[in-house]
Amino acid sequence: MTCLECNKELGYLDHKSAIESVGVELCAHHQELIKVLIQKNNTPLEAIQLYYGLKEAGVQGMLEWWDGKKSVDIAISRVKLNIEIDCGYDKLTEEQAINNLEEAMHSFKNGFTTIRIPHILVRYYLNETIKNIIGIMEGLKANIKVIN
Ligand SMILES: [Zn+2]
Repeated sequence: MTCLECNKELGYLDHKSAIESVGVELCAHHQELIKVLIQKNNTPLEAIQLYYGLKEAGVQGMLEWWDGKKSVDIAISRVKLNIEIDCGYDKLTEEQAINNLEEAMHSFKNGFTTIRIPHILVRYYLNETIKNIIGIMEGLKANIKVIN
């Protein structure tokens, strides 16, 4: 077991504390950095998990990317894709729903596509979620080529 950021070897206890506090294998130093990010942006742990899952699959995203209006959970700038993790999807209010739609509208105007992924998908179907995101990226890439 090694840190996903710096490849530092993690002992059993380091590994246990990392999984318990941030949900992914990180050394003490990188756990601290992620915790600061989480505190600042209220980042869901599933965003962290998905970010590292994508990274392992060769997809370089950006965590908590500032798009000029708001912080996006994960942005993949190469194909202009924003990924937002939805927490508590079952309790979505009309107000949240219209906010989401408005955010998606602003992103589209900037040429970005926004997809919203329920947090339970990341938790229980991580591999399938990543596979689908990669498929979406391929689709976006093909469309960008057509436009250019
Ligand atoms: Zn590290």
